[in-house]
Amino acid sequence: MKFDVLVVGGGPAGLSAALILGRCHRTVLVCDEGHQRNLNSHAIHGLLGREGRSPCSFLDEAREDLSRYKTVAVRRTRITAISRAGEGRFEFVCADGTAGSASKVLLATGLVDELPELARIKPLYGVSVHHCLYCDGFEYAGKPVAAYGKEDKGAELAVMMKHWMSDVVACSGGTEVSAQAIRKLEEHSIPLRTEPVRSLEGADGELTRIVFETGPDLTRAGLFFSTGCHQASDLSDRLGCARNERGGVVIDPDTEESSVPGVYVAGDVSRDVLLVAVAIAEGAQAAVAINKAFLRRDGLCD
Ligand SMILES: Cc1cc2nc3c(=O)[nH]c(=O)nc-3n(C[C@H](O)[C@H](O)[C@H](O)COP(=O)(O)OP(=O)(O)OC[C@H]3O[C@@H](n4cnc5c(N)ncnc54)[C@H](O)[C@@H]3O)c2cc1C
Repeated sequence: MKFDVLVVGGGPAGLSAALILGRCHRTVLVCDEGHQRNLNSHAIHGLLGREGRSPCSFLDEAREDLSRYKTVAVRRTRITAISRAGEGRFEFVCADGTAGSASKVLLATGLVDELPELARIKPLYGVSVHHCLYCDGFEYAGKPVAAYGKEDKGAELAVMMKHWMSDVVACSGGTEVSAQAIRKLEEHSIPLRTEPVRSLEGADGELTRIVFETGPDLTRAGLFFSTGCHQASDLSDRLGCARNERGGVVIDPDTEESSVPGVYVAGDVSRDVLLVAVAIAEGAQAAVAINKAFLRRDGLCD
């Protein structure tokens, strides 16, 4: 199997790139393992024209959009290896045993969130437990919420949350908070709970209260956390792409090309602004840059 472009990852970034490349008559293989970052979430917010749509139905619609383009194929499989072959091509192998080559590679493999280790967090995550204020903060105006993070992280998050909601409690999960962070909490009238959390309680995805190892329970409608995230795939490392201090793949901002010629990056992989709208835009930008590179190769543009 020979393709113009191998797109690794079928989230908003990869599918957006495939759409533009399909419209440029490029042969494209999208390989997607199917663990898009926001699949736990009940709704996408901040996406113009698709506000409140569920991530699953958004992805189904995006794949349906692609079915019109006969040069674009989408496969549900993991890419296990990519290496540079001769004549400016890349060879790849999929977990389902298929293999092939492509002239360009677009890595749209996304990130994986590190969930805090809190008992009963999983059924609440994405519905009433969140990590992103831009995605979900608006819905909590006027509701009681908690900010969770070890050491100063929960306190720093709580201070920022004050812009979105007035009733915020910072929780440090049994870790010490610095005097400076405590002063800042006091300045903004934010209570602090330092006890370890025993569990989160709720039903149907809705948080109702936080139970601590000691002290009274805390009634809350939502919890935001600040832990971290890491790359979903090590393919960028194995291809030799340079990373920045935040662990994002370094790109040329005009073309989305990485430090390895022919390897492009779109979406959360670059760890820039982590939103669906931005992933879609970066996928489109990378696709245009890839098509231009082909046009230049074929003497059709400078
Ligand atoms: C709980 C939650 C809620 C969110 N809510 C919002 C919101 O309301 N609004 C908003 O704008 N943003 C939201 N986000 C952020 C949003 O999900 C991401 O910005 C967006 O998904 C990034 O798109 P992407 O295409 O870069 O990566 P992803 O959507 O993560 O897709 C990457 C894909 O690549 C696949 N992949 C990885 N490695 C390989 C491999 N080797 N081979 C094949 N496939 C591979 C993965 O399995 C995955 O399917 C939320 C995130 C989370 C975690």
